[in-house]
Amino acid sequence: MSKRDYYEVLGVAKTASESELKVAFRKLAMVHHPDRNPGDKEAEIKFKEVNEAYQCLSDGQKRAAYDRFGHAAFSQGGAGGPGFGNEFGDFMSDIFENFFGDGRGAPGGGRGRGGAPGRERGADLRYNLEISLEEAFAGKTETIRIPTSIACETCSGTGAKAGSKPRTCSTCGGYGRVRAAQGFFAIERTCPNCHGRGEVVDDPCPSCSGAGRVNRERTLSINVPAGVDDGLRIRLAGEGESGLRGGPSGDLYVFLSIKPHPFFQRDGADLFCRVPISMVTAALSGEITVPVIDGSQTQVRIPAGTQTAKQFRIKGKGMPVLRSREVGDLYIQVSVETPQNLTKRQRELLQEFDQSASDENHPESAGFFSKVRDFFVSGSTRA
Ligand SMILES: [Zn+2]
Ligand SMILES: [Zn+2]
Repeated sequence: MSKRDYYEVLGVAKTASESELKVAFRKLAMVHHPDRNPGDKEAEIKFKEVNEAYQCLSDGQKRAAYDRFGHAAFSQGGAGGPGFGNEFGDFMSDIFENFFGDGRGAPGGGRGRGGAPGRERGADLRYNLEISLEEAFAGKTETIRIPTSIACETCSGTGAKAGSKPRTCSTCGGYGRVRAAQGFFAIERTCPNCHGRGEVVDDPCPSCSGAGRVNRERTLSINVPAGVDDGLRIRLAGEGESGLRGGPSGDLYVFLSIKPHPFFQRDGADLFCRVPISMVTAALSGEITVPVIDGSQTQVRIPAGTQTAKQFRIKGKGMPVLRSREVGDLYIQVSVETPQNLTKRQRELLQEFDQSASDENHPESAGFFSKVRDFFVSGSTRA
């Protein structure tokens, strides 16, 4: 089944701002709302489609994933980097479960399937980790600090004071949501009495004020393997936010980015470096010293008559390939620098050289200009 593009569904541009999305969503939701179109199946489908598109695009993280992978970002085993694709797919389906699953939010559905009432999975967390190209080359152990909430130790996450127990909320009957009429909409909103939990704590735990969680900063040591590339995602299962009232923890997703390097460009496992050389070295031959990503240096022999843009390959001096023993190559691309700020003597020497020069010295320009001549000659006979 092919799904429509979310932006198309909402009728907005890919660059639409949050408020533009909101306006578009509200307008469409009004038009297709089931309460305005009783018994109209098509309107119901449209309404769901609009809702789904908005839920995705209004969430920065999901929107980024959608922009990158399309609908595949939210399907099991969807698109993704090598080895991490399935995990990412799971992650997205978890999020969607929270939004669209028939857990607490579904009308008449009651509380989460199977789980004890009030148990709630902790949120997934995202951490952006930026490393240098050198660190991506060598691998790195990075200690990160994550502000998160963990289950309160005093009450084991129930939120109730020792010896007391939470009781079912009388306002919503444990459902967590209440229905109310507003204009022609029957809206469902989070229960104001229990704030969606379905239960209330009469005697709150003093350590967490009844929340069941306390805010903490955790430190985690992340092992970044050598050869990682920009955009890689690492999933650390169970390292996200703690669940509520004994629910499972969420996961932590580390999004890796690599800072641009001042002189190395990367293409997969290969590195490229542009090196200026003097006109004399290019003409007479010579050796140049070039940098290597491991911090060392190496020599490159420049043969006589080297032109700008000529590439020299240095085998095995590129980036390691993730989870393999392969290593890429380093490509040195030279650019011949024309001398500037000449002294009178230097100018004379170059003029002297020029007087003695023949087409043999500059075969490329000689060839080019003879082609240009031919072009104009044949052009004039055509006219
Ligand atoms: Zn507590
Ligand atoms: Zn309630």
